[in-house]
Amino acid sequence: MQHPVLISGAGILGCYISQALSLHGIQSIVLEKNSEQIAESIRTITLNPFSKSLLDNVDIKNDYSIIDKMEVTDFDGTGKIVFDSSEIDIDHLAYVIDFVTLLKSVRKKAENSILYQEEIIEIKDKKSHHEATLSSGKIIKTNLIISSDGKNSSLSNKIPKSDKDYSQTALTFLAKAENDLGEKAFQIFSDYGICAFMPSTREKEKVVTVVWSIPNDLIKDGYDEFIDNNLEKISKKIKNNFHIKSEIQSFKLASHNKSRYVEFPIVLVGDSAHSIHPLAGQGVNLGFEDANSLVKKITNTINQSDSIKLKEDLENYSNERRFQNELMLKTMDGFVALFEQKNPYVRFLRNFGLNTFDHSKFLKSFFVKVASGPIR
Ligand SMILES: Cc1cc2nc3c(=O)[nH]c(=O)nc-3n(C[C@H](O)[C@H](O)[C@H](O)COP(=O)(O)OP(=O)(O)OC[C@H]3O[C@@H](n4cnc5c(N)ncnc54)[C@H](O)[C@@H]3O)c2cc1C
Repeated sequence: MQHPVLISGAGILGCYISQALSLHGIQSIVLEKNSEQIAESIRTITLNPFSKSLLDNVDIKNDYSIIDKMEVTDFDGTGKIVFDSSEIDIDHLAYVIDFVTLLKSVRKKAENSILYQEEIIEIKDKKSHHEATLSSGKIIKTNLIISSDGKNSSLSNKIPKSDKDYSQTALTFLAKAENDLGEKAFQIFSDYGICAFMPSTREKEKVVTVVWSIPNDLIKDGYDEFIDNNLEKISKKIKNNFHIKSEIQSFKLASHNKSRYVEFPIVLVGDSAHSIHPLAGQGVNLGFEDANSLVKKITNTINQSDSIKLKEDLENYSNERRFQNELMLKTMDGFVALFEQKNPYVRFLRNFGLNTFDHSKFLKSFFVKVASGPIR
């Protein structure tokens, strides 16, 4: 490709794509509308083995805490599924890392390609290439613009989307556990929401990260009281007790999926294209699958230097990734709806279903392989 690829958004995915392209000798410029300063946050992010392997491949190495076992329980019954990496023949189920640590390390790796406090304000078609005018007035020639600028991307806002407001808020905080979780994570589905406890890297000793998705009507009077009243109750289900050790951060929960991921010369990846309920910690992992697929298409075309082929490959990327992401989105919505049910018959069947699933090595192995990404 004659001109550099322009990447809008120096988030985890934009920086990763820049590095992955550079491994193939393809130059890119990453634009970040904000300054270099990254606001501190206690948020963590869970990567599946595929996402971690992509980061390893571009030499972005970090200390992760490991999840080898995951117990999913229904608070109101006996239903339980335990996923165990050793049973499923996989090294680890997942890796947990501080969001800010990961963002800093991907930005450090891509630092020579990032222009801070810059964004695209106009794109002109010049037939053989496109010209992007930046907020500083600078003009950059390019054949391809990657929109990795998140959920509120202005580059992708002309493309229609389907979206869903869950009427839920995710609260996340660090807590000290009375009993060490080791390398085990827990997820409890209940009338008080979906609560996940995961090992944290922040402090080694018994500090866990909690992500709790709660129906908005339960926290309309504020969430401190809700947590005071319910954390102990929920923790008893997993025979533990937790003491909050950080501020509590909140995120309104919604999902979306764009009707297509390409509007030439713009192609969408990650949250710019789609977002998902955090219950399975899949958001950025689906984004890594987008990124991997897109990098393959770009490098494939570059080697053949053909712009018609590039458009065709991008259309294929859009169709393939949109379909996969929609499937995961609908599956997660199905879980959310199933666990919102108050009908006792549905609850009985749900618990029965969980226990049946738990006895099927085949189903568990299939489920984990889907959630782990296309690693094998
Ligand atoms: C509570 C919660 C928990 C989550 N937990 C997990 C988890 O455990 N595992 C997981 O896989 N996912 C999780 N996610 C989802 C995950 O955080 C996102 O999918 C991921 O951060 C998206 O990355 P991105 O690079 O696409 O976008 P972003 O992280 O949003 O990055 C976009 C970047 O673009 C910049 N930008 C925006 N507009 C412009 C512009 N016009 N020009 C230039 N730059 C611009 C922004 O400043 C930012 O730096 C969670 C989400 C929530 C809300």
